[in-house]
Amino acid sequence: MRIIPISLPTPFYVGPVNVYLIAEDPITLIDSGPKTKEANEALREGLRRERIRVSDIRRIVLTHAHEDHCGLARSLREEAKDAEVLVHAWETGHRIGRLAHEEHRDLLARAGVPDVEIAGMRRMYEGVRRYADSFEDHEYGELRDEAELEFANGSLRIVHTPGHTPGSCSFVREADRTIIAGDCVLKRITPNPILSPDPIDPAKRFPSLAEYLVSLARLRTFAPTLVHGGHGEPVRDFEELFNRYLRAIRERQEEVIHLVPGTGATAWEISRQMFPDTDDVHRFLAVSEAVAHLDLAHSEGKIEVERGNGKEVYRKIAA
Ligand SMILES: [Zn+2]
Ligand SMILES: [Zn+2]
Repeated sequence: MRIIPISLPTPFYVGPVNVYLIAEDPITLIDSGPKTKEANEALREGLRRERIRVSDIRRIVLTHAHEDHCGLARSLREEAKDAEVLVHAWETGHRIGRLAHEEHRDLLARAGVPDVEIAGMRRMYEGVRRYADSFEDHEYGELRDEAELEFANGSLRIVHTPGHTPGSCSFVREADRTIIAGDCVLKRITPNPILSPDPIDPAKRFPSLAEYLVSLARLRTFAPTLVHGGHGEPVRDFEELFNRYLRAIRERQEEVIHLVPGTGATAWEISRQMFPDTDDVHRFLAVSEAVAHLDLAHSEGKIEVERGNGKEVYRKIAA
């Protein structure tokens, strides 16, 4: 089984996105790129090099439903005469009405984000939304943990690797311990655990960083020799990267704990101290990162949290 990376341009800060073609029956595309003319052309060019047409695609599998990964999926599905689209049930980014999610707004308010900033984040996400088409519920199927994607010569095991998003999935080719990991494993960036409602109880926050650590450890059990990420070059030294991620997460956690005052602060206030220069486009990512680290530190008993007035205030543990 040959896994063929195709790099597509995106209009986002992260740069190009990698999608993966498996040119074997049933012809499968893992991720689709954003809905832009440039990405569409680059994808067609990549397929042409392998003598494949969009209409030959039978299956489109999404590592997760961020616009840079899922944007073109719906139009490709139509052009490929209803190719099967598969995504994990805990993903929401591709669904119709996803921005109507009041839960998301509540999470931001609980993190202490001021209303005017929430409105700005919302506008920004409405802008980003044009880079992806939405799916109706009957237009996609479900990726299930531990199930297999079968091909004429081999298979990929589906491994649910939540963290970056609740429904992120990786695909493991056990024959040669190769993994396609989407944004779960990236060579040059420590992936952001994005603030999300918990898919089981949307009134709660998804424990993204704790889940992410479990996902990384799970991928590690496959002793991968090669990991294809959603952005940048493939990773051939997973063990080293794994240790680097853990160190980076521990260092960031110490920094965050250090910023928590005895008098208490919200995640928003702490994020502004962590990243004082972030422009409004990146403030959502900054507050996501602060919340992720504060949640983890709290679950490990290193700080206290108090809920009141619809906000969560973090405090140093009194000596
Ligand atoms: Zn992503
Ligand atoms: Zn991405």
